[in-house]
Formats: sequence, structure tokens, C-alpha cells
Amino acid sequence: MTVVDSLTPRRGLRVLITAGANGIGLAIAKAFQEAGAQVHVCDIDPHALDDLPAGITHTLADVSRQGDVDRLFQEASAMGGLDVVVNNAGIAGPTGGIDEIDDDAWTRTIDINLNGQYRIAHRATPLLRESQGLLINLASVAGRLGFAYRTPYAASKWAVVGLTKSLACELGTDGVRVNAILPGIVRGPRIEKVIEDRAAKRGISYAEMEQENLAKVSLRRMVEPTDIAAMALFLSAPGGANISGQALSVCANVESL
Ligand code: NAD
Repeated sequence: MTVVDSLTPRRGLRVLITAGANGIGLAIAKAFQEAGAQVHVCDIDPHALDDLPAGITHTLADVSRQGDVDRLFQEASAMGGLDVVVNNAGIAGPTGGIDEIDDDAWTRTIDINLNGQYRIAHRATPLLRESQGLLINLASVAGRLGFAYRTPYAASKWAVVGLTKSLACELGTDGVRVNAILPGIVRGPRIEKVIEDRAAKRGISYAEMEQENLAKVSLRRMVEPTDIAAMALFLSAPGGANISGQALSVCANVESL
């Protein structure tokens, strides 16, 4: 195999992606399908699931509900095993000072962003051991930097990095790799809402807030969902076979938040 060939995953990979009906998860699902993989996704948005490209199978499932996760693995078992699992589901959580946010918003953020990844990893591990597979956890640059007024989100994403590094140590001798991808500011509706909320909190305009955010990015630009998908494909390709336990930023170099 040439080095160039080693940059593409082998065809026929069996891939499970959480929150795969929109945004980054959808970009990852489409990229794996283009690379010849069998792709199964879950999401809580039934309409977006109905609109998935033909051939991508799905389950209506919320990663914060154990019963839904059990049903997801039941339905995904039609693929006959799993080679790659992408723990993508994550919410932005509340924006506010630590003494302002409410307990339920804190708990919900941790329950989806961290506990959701645990629930999936717990169920996926035996299958990944069988295939010597790969687990990819979506963290964030907020998982390597402090993030004022977004403490629940940042705390959950630092925890995702801890989960990733610990599982890579634990499962490496079984041939299972575990990595985190840390996106920066990814173009799409989610980031628009985050900028809106932060602008309101700071009492400045949307344009000023966006400008301020990009001033902290060395390349002065957002990244695209397809940039995240490209990293997921590379990690799944033979060229990525010796990458494990890493927290890989795809962020145009976010210097601070
Ligand atoms: P998004 O907000 O666009 O949501 C994507 C999908 O998640 C939606 O289809 C939604 O229905 C689904 N979803 C929400 N809660 C769910 C749940 N409990 N169970 C199953 N599905 C659920 O998200 P995104 O921007 O594509 O982000 C994907 C991942 O990347 C997240 O973990 C996020 O924290 C991380 N991330 C995103 C950005 C960004 O700028 N967008 C930056 C850094 C990290």
C-alpha cells in the first residue's frame, strides 16, 4: 500500500455515529458513506433522520437515555459488528456565570456530553475489541482551554478528553484505539446561537461578538464540518493506525476562548 492509499479507509467499514442527522455528525456520516462504509446514525430529530441520504440507516435515540442507547445497539447490530464508533452527540449547554446557571442545565449538559459518551463507549467496547476498532469522541477546544460563562460545556469537554486518554490506555492492549477530536469554531447554526447568546450576555452586537471570537483564532476563520469529517476518516484509515490516546484539535488554532 502506498502512503497516499493509506490515507483512505478500507471500504466496508461498519460505522456508528451519534447525533448524525445534522451538523458535524451528518458531515462525518456522509464522508464515511462516500468512503464506502456502512453507516448507522442516531439522533433525537425525527425529521432530520427522515432526510438522511439513502443508504444511511438510523435509530431515533437520545444518548442520555439508557433504553434508547440499548435500542440503538440492537438496531445497529444489523451491520454485523462495529469498526468505528463516533461519539458525536453534545449540546452547548447554558451560557451564564457559575452563580447564575441552574442545576438542571448543568446536569443536562454533563448527562449528554459526558455520560452519553460513557453509555456509548460502555456498549461499544466489546464490539470494538472484536474488530480491533476505533472510538472517536468529539470534544472541543473548550476541552483544552478555560471558557468563561460556558463552564458546564468546558468541564464536560475536558472530561471527554480524560475519558479518551483513559480508554486509550485501557483498551490499547486489545488493539482498540481511542481518540478525541477538538473542533474549533465550526460554521453552522449551532455556532450562530452560541455567538448570539454570548453577545446578549456581553451586551454587544452579533457582528462584534463574531469579530471578537475570530480575533482569538490564528487563522482568523471558522472551520467547516467537512474538516472534522476529514480528520475522522484519516483516523479510520491505515495511515492513522498508530494514533491513539490523542486530543486532536481541528480549529484553525484557537488561542483562547
Ligand atoms: P448540533 O448542535 O448541530 O447538533 C447536532 C445533532 O445533535 C442534532 O441533529 C441534534 O438533534 C442532535 N442531538 C442533540 N442532543 C442529542 C442527544 N441527546 N442524543 C442524540 N442526538 C442529539 O451539534 P454540532 O455543532 O454538529 O456538534 C457536534 C459535536 O461537536 C458536539 O459534541 C459538539 O459539542 C462538538 N463541537 C461543536 C463545535 C461547533 O462549533 N459546532 C465546536 C466544538 C465542538
